[in-house]
Amino acid sequence: MSDFDGLKALVTGGASGIGRATAELLAARGARVAVLDLDPSSVDKPLLAFRADVTDDASVREAVAAAVAGLGGLDVLINNAGIGAQGTVEDNDDAEWHRVYDVNVVGMVRVSRAALPHLRESSHATIVNTCSIAATAGLPQRALYSATKGAVYSLTLAMAADHVREGIRVNCVNPGTVDTPWVGRLLDAAADPAAERAALEARQPTGRLVSADEVAGAVAYLASPLSGATTGTSLAVDGGMQGL
Ligand code: NAD
Repeated sequence: MSDFDGLKALVTGGASGIGRATAELLAARGARVAVLDLDPSSVDKPLLAFRADVTDDASVREAVAAAVAGLGGLDVLINNAGIGAQGTVEDNDDAEWHRVYDVNVVGMVRVSRAALPHLRESSHATIVNTCSIAATAGLPQRALYSATKGAVYSLTLAMAADHVREGIRVNCVNPGTVDTPWVGRLLDAAADPAAERAALEARQPTGRLVSADEVAGAVAYLASPLSGATTGTSLAVDGGMQGL
């Protein structure tokens, strides 16, 4: 793995799960890292922490500006903040569709809009969006969530095309089921959490959930100079869930 010495990175949703693991990995590899999160109170040094809600444009602009000032520039944007939703198209009303789309899709747009002027100043500018296998797998009971991640996938391709000639690469990772606090909350809500976990694991060809560190490794690769010729792609980190 390359090192990130001298590179400055911003990770949204970096206080928990995949974002937390990514922020810590990039920092361990030498990057200066800022986290933007709804609740960054658990984020410790050397990570810089900024509170923002990706659904609130003013708070995003303010936090991105503060993060760039704190970091001394910006080379790497990890658009990771996201929320889940369960059910078929009959289960979620219009308000819920707008709420989840606003976080998972427009949230990435807001942060990207605020970050792009700074990324243009970088000689190593990359964006990595956290997508999901839900974008392409046709998962049951995930209509709304899957639609938002399908949009993230298309957004990644469109942004890659728009910004490649400015020297900005844009890629996404497509995790499978990852052992994060989010999945922990879903399991806790089940009638029998242990049985539910066993059922989730049994669905994985590897027999286990993906770890947040394993997703972070893929994000770090796409964010690093090692992937310098790669833009407009998705990298599955799904324990073989798709395709095996
Ligand atoms: P998580 O709940 O552990 O962490 C998400 C973080 O995002 C939290 O710190 C939360 O405070 C922050 N966040 C949520 N809404 C926000 C908002 N409006 N503004 C700012 N920050 C906000 O979740 P996770 O499992 O680490 O998921 C992270 C990303 O990975 C999401 O985009 C999710 O869709 C994606 N993903 C997760 C899985 C999985 O199985 N866990 C699988 C595929 C994709």
